[in-house]
Amino acid sequence: MEKRILLSLAHMGGTEQKYVNEAFETNWIVPLGPNVDEFEHRLQAFLGQDKSVVALCAGTAAIHLGLVMLGVSRDDEVICQDLTFSASCNPIVYQGATPVFVDSEPDTMNMDPKILEEAIIARKEATGRYPKAIIVVYLYGMPAKIDEILAVAAKYGIPVLEDAAEGLGSEYRGRMVGTFGAYGALSFNGNKIITTSGGGALICPDKDSARRVLFLATQARENRPYYYHTTIGYNYRLSNVSGGIGCGQMEVLEDHLARRRAIHDIYARELNAIPGIEVQMNPGDDFKSNFWLSTIQVNPAVTGRTPDEIRLILADKNIETRLLWRPMHMMPVFENCPYYGKEEVGRRLFEGGLCLPSGSSLTDEDIMRVCREIKACCN
Ligand SMILES: *Cc1c(COP(=O)(O)O)cnc(C)c1O
Repeated sequence: MEKRILLSLAHMGGTEQKYVNEAFETNWIVPLGPNVDEFEHRLQAFLGQDKSVVALCAGTAAIHLGLVMLGVSRDDEVICQDLTFSASCNPIVYQGATPVFVDSEPDTMNMDPKILEEAIIARKEATGRYPKAIIVVYLYGMPAKIDEILAVAAKYGIPVLEDAAEGLGSEYRGRMVGTFGAYGALSFNGNKIITTSGGGALICPDKDSARRVLFLATQARENRPYYYHTTIGYNYRLSNVSGGIGCGQMEVLEDHLARRRAIHDIYARELNAIPGIEVQMNPGDDFKSNFWLSTIQVNPAVTGRTPDEIRLILADKNIETRLLWRPMHMMPVFENCPYYGKEEVGRRLFEGGLCLPSGSSLTDEDIMRVCREIKACCN
């Protein structure tokens, strides 16, 4: 059997161990410390726009605290992109609020700004109130049409929270995604662009809001000689051991981004030549995806294969692929939530789509093998 090719694996650069050892040698084995501080500084420098970054234990925790900061609470509604991973919207429910799902447009696979406005107007009519926040996602790293989304959001005075968990290093008009909205969430889970084994960060607009996020993430403990609480807190801070992994990963972030994009270039060259297969591309010069995962759309009438058939054939050849995220309105757990998307673009993308191995540790030969196997099984 040939070497196993997986979708996206942790890819260490080599210096991570040095920072982790420092944490051990200095006994900073707690959810704060020099590695966490340094990791935050490096993220801030990378993202620019004068943002303040707070490192947390998960991307999901970052989204949750973003919603807390935006004042989302019981009986509010929060608009969320429908085509995404459930971690984008679960924190809405943690807050006792209701997700309202908005369909995607086909160019970026992200939130459709027109349907967003329709949904805002319809929710105002239905409930008498505007939704409290909007969660836009950068699926597979692709920037959303964020200018148009921000314009709609501003028109109705609704803040935007960017779920940039998959989008670290992606740019829209030369600016890093995650820095456009009121808050932006990053993930450093094992399969993302960089990893801390598990972790995340909340990108905050200024130092004051970052201080508040840090306070909430460390049990909302007031500065007194005894434990004293005036608000509900969370235990969401990143460990200093994980922060060390993050420091090392920041040293190879640019390499990882270049590699993911080079892998996408190979897929585009090899697979766009196959009738019935389309590799997702940047839809214009404004968009610069990190191509966290390269994805294809498959037309079974032309290829003779559905995406799931291709998945099973490749699995047999020791190659892991995955179907796209299944839209939230198709999940039993969210079936009672409002959904806006007459044409169900997200469902069509889900049904026609396949994610390909894209990890930055994969070689050109690995990617060529994936391409050969896809070619071999299509008409
Ligand atoms: C990974 C991911 C998250 C959650 O991040 P964790 O660090 O795993 O909690 C949220 N949203 C999207 C779109 C993701 O891909």
